[in-house]
Amino acid sequence: MILLLYLDNSATTPIHQEVKDAMLPFILEQFGNPSSKYYEQATTAKEAVKVARSQVAKLINCNPSEILFTSGSTESNNFVIKGITDQQKTKGRHIITTNVEHPSVLEVFKFLETLGFEVTILPVNQEGRITANQFKDALKPETIFASIQWGNNELGSLNPIEEIAKISLTNKIFLHSDATQVIGKIEVNLEEIPGLNSISISAHKFFGPKGVGALFLRKDQYELFPSITPLLHGGGQEEGLRSGTLAVHNIVGLGKASEIASKNLTGHIDQLNSLESYLVGVLKEKFGSNIKFNQPSSEKIPGIISVQFIGLNNEILVKRLSPIMAVSTGSACSSAKPSHVLASIGLSLNEIRQTIRISLSPYIEKDDLNIFKNL
Ligand code: PMP
Repeated sequence: MILLLYLDNSATTPIHQEVKDAMLPFILEQFGNPSSKYYEQATTAKEAVKVARSQVAKLINCNPSEILFTSGSTESNNFVIKGITDQQKTKGRHIITTNVEHPSVLEVFKFLETLGFEVTILPVNQEGRITANQFKDALKPETIFASIQWGNNELGSLNPIEEIAKISLTNKIFLHSDATQVIGKIEVNLEEIPGLNSISISAHKFFGPKGVGALFLRKDQYELFPSITPLLHGGGQEEGLRSGTLAVHNIVGLGKASEIASKNLTGHIDQLNSLESYLVGVLKEKFGSNIKFNQPSSEKIPGIISVQFIGLNNEILVKRLSPIMAVSTGSACSSAKPSHVLASIGLSLNEIRQTIRISLSPYIEKDDLNIFKNL
């Protein structure tokens, strides 16, 4: 077996052993449909979904009834952006986002523009984030909706989401945040951010399975969801908002991954911070002026490093490193389409083409990173 150091945890993570163990019975003997009734497999499946809903809710501190299971963050982003704007379009047609969002946000905004919405795409600063004032200045009487990423997948930059949410609440704007990259890596306490109406979550980014995620959708004081047009119509699962037989094994996996993330949050944050500063030190010592870091030095997701190897092509570098470690070019896009995130912080095409992203896991040790000393 090849010993490969996996350092592409922002792209995806391996399934945690306990997550796999929790899922297996629901792939095998407990195969029931949670919408069926009375017999054992059905009630067991229903109960397992209920437990998972509570586990996810606990991780982000919301009510379990505010969790809707989806296939992942791409779906959650599409669902809430299309579903809310569709319902509110008679109130106004101005919507706001940022230029470093994941394509599952940006492309939806571009699509909505073709439907007649007026789109403002806020440019981030050199640290890869917007300011609360920038958000405030962008508001118009017709603004109905904003989608502002919580933390960035390439740079780790965190947006001032609490401040943005306060402004949003005052101005009665629906605020969504793509929280895909921050779950399990920073504290997310939704009870303390009442102005944040929804967030997207994806299990495979925090040691859960692929193909499952959630949309947190805040209910009002009467415990009612906001009006939202479903993305998937059908059998009426998930309170009629997301039809389709629930993927019980995957949902159980998401629940277990959430439970593990809740239990270990502080320890994981400390470990990621410590690994990050260790690796930055090792890289500086080994490569000196031949490297340059792109990520901000504070207010960031711990464990994401974006680094330029001056004069080297990132595709060639990532390929050369691939027998011993997995890192990425910092963008899922092809080399023909350079990272829109790195371009947004003012990097030249040349600088983008020499950047790699290293995204750490709390389950590795400092010693593992000594591999960089021998490159
Ligand atoms: N948003 C962000 C910030 C992401 O990093 C990703 C995954 N690359 C997604 C959304 C999409 O998530 P999923 O894979 O669950 O569709």
